[in-house]
Amino acid sequence: MKQERVNEEQLQPYWPLVKEMTAGREVTWLNGQKLHTYDADLPITIEDMKEAHARLRRFAPFLAHVFPETKEAGGVIESPFMEIPSMKEYLEKKHGTILEGGLYLKADHLLPVAGSVKARGGMYEVLKYAENIAMQHNLLLTEEDYSKLATDEMKTFFSNYSLAVGSTGNLGLSIGMTGAALGFQTTVHMSADAKEWKKKRLRDKGVTVIEYEEDYSQAVEEGRRMSARTKNSFFIDDEHSKELFVGYSTAALRLQKQLQEQQIIIDENHPLIVYLPCGVGGAPGGIFAGLKRVFGEHVYGFFAEPVQAPCMLLGLLTGLHDQIAVQDVGIDLRTEADGLAVGRPSSFVGKAVAPHLDGIFTVSDDKLFVYLHQMNELEGERLEPSALAGMEGPVRAKMSGWLDKQFTSSQRQNAIHLVWSTGGSLVPEKEMSAMIKKGKQLQS
Ligand SMILES: *Cc1c(COP(=O)(O)O)cnc(C)c1O
Repeated sequence: MKQERVNEEQLQPYWPLVKEMTAGREVTWLNGQKLHTYDADLPITIEDMKEAHARLRRFAPFLAHVFPETKEAGGVIESPFMEIPSMKEYLEKKHGTILEGGLYLKADHLLPVAGSVKARGGMYEVLKYAENIAMQHNLLLTEEDYSKLATDEMKTFFSNYSLAVGSTGNLGLSIGMTGAALGFQTTVHMSADAKEWKKKRLRDKGVTVIEYEEDYSQAVEEGRRMSARTKNSFFIDDEHSKELFVGYSTAALRLQKQLQEQQIIIDENHPLIVYLPCGVGGAPGGIFAGLKRVFGEHVYGFFAEPVQAPCMLLGLLTGLHDQIAVQDVGIDLRTEADGLAVGRPSSFVGKAVAPHLDGIFTVSDDKLFVYLHQMNELEGERLEPSALAGMEGPVRAKMSGWLDKQFTSSQRQNAIHLVWSTGGSLVPEKEMSAMIKKGKQLQS
């Protein structure tokens, strides 16, 4: 499905911003299309989210069994919510500004099994598929103890089915690990950006990894084609999947509980502002839609993209969604933020978030590394480059004038700025120290 290059005339109205983007400069875009009817047209309901939450609960005994690292949490795949005051101080100093309110991190880099935000969507979709086919064959009841899915008998049953997915790395890791644990024949189609260690980790688990020299969209396209030719094969479609989206959205119910536990109130006088790294859009879109369902008009959201991969920004800005790719305007997709190295956004997600999102900003790769180093130094958290895209969000919200325009001074004082850290805990030590070193050098 190769599209024609978009012509310049179509881009004319957006030219000033697009020109900044193609010149490799960072931009901050505020969404003029935002509506104030907060829950209009979201593709998921609170019931969808609760149903997904209940399904994940049913699977918890199975997950605790096959992934020992989840045993202590009883098979619940969740991450900490923490305040990062030293990072806040650093950002204020670096940018010469004062950030009112608190700076927090949703530490999805610590999600077990996949080590990234993809644990939420990817695992959920595979588990739901497994549940469906097991039930269709009368091999499972919702009331049963799902640890029975870990038996050899069930693994043999699932080995008659195939799973496939296209990925820049992390989604493949999430789906591959879960698929292999259930016994599915799993194939991951990896784009050129995917890191070597991610491929190795999967192959070690018996997952078939097919490598492409092209970008993510190409890997997805090939994967979809091959899967369609394979009997009993299910293709997990990152660009269109509602199940992935629902899986991501459950993060909102979990966060709500964590906020309650720490007695943090979200209401008109205590706005929640989230900063989410965005690739094709599924993870940030699903999380943000879930947050909208839970916190309504009191939650605000920005997506963050690399300067070299601003696909969602280009899609939303022009309204062309997946009919435009960053390569069409001469942006080359060369970014170290492999999780975000996507040239064409999901139109499903773009259309879903367009009326709700507050803005999108882009960040240079160099800054991602500097923040990577600082997060390690100041907060002791090890994140991969993609996971740092949102870190400058509160600064952008402030410096663009958005914060002052949106809120009163007391609302700003009470604001919860939440940066979503989306991956990094499984990065091998050697690679991590090299990245930390790079960030340290870039800073000086
Ligand atoms: C995939 C990914 C994202 C973004 O998710 P999309 O669904 O592609 O938008 C962000 N950070 C990391 C580390 C990722 O792997």
